[in-house]
Amino acid sequence: MIKAVKDYIRTIKDFPHEGVLFRDVTTLFADPRGFRMAVDQLLSPYAGLDIDKVAGLEARGFILGGAVAHQLSTGFVPVRKKGKLPGRTISQAYTLEYAEAEIEVHDDAFHPGEKVLLVDDLLATGGTAEAGIKLIERLGAQVVGCAFVVDLPDLGGRAKLEAMGMQVHALCA
Ligand code: IMP
Repeated sequence: MIKAVKDYIRTIKDFPHEGVLFRDVTTLFADPRGFRMAVDQLLSPYAGLDIDKVAGLEARGFILGGAVAHQLSTGFVPVRKKGKLPGRTISQAYTLEYAEAEIEVHDDAFHPGEKVLLVDDLLATGGTAEAGIKLIERLGAQVVGCAFVVDLPDLGGRAKLEAMGMQVHALCA
């Protein structure tokens, strides 16, 4: 049987805490065929489009986003957790399940008019991606798409991003 992207992802019960079914994409990344398939499928709607930069959300979005940027011949920008970037940053707060978090980009990472593709491994509530979009837009750039390997639609992320006018691309649920 030919395996699909979804077949390379393992689910781990009760991580990081009881009751959670964690989608572990490290098994997808570790497989040469699976990783290539995931990267190819992530970028396929955007091939040939005029995109300046791929923005990857820490941390698994760096792995996917770097490969996508290389293939699309764009720049790559890491969207990092607070306190990790060395230069001047802008930051955006967002709500996690039980806490507040902040992500940042360098304040010169994007420029007005640039077209940006946002990449991450998984879309759940959409809070992380929404904060990333806000950072990119605050610097005057435009998000032309949001690409994820996994979309968990019951958690509302896709609806949230689409309500912001975003185009969401996901490989599996
Ligand atoms: P959201 O902000 O609720 O959409 O959560 C998405 C963020 O949390 C992404 O950066 C994911 O990497 C991470 N995340 C949440 N749940 C999982 C999971 O089951 N597997 C892998 N990453 C997850």
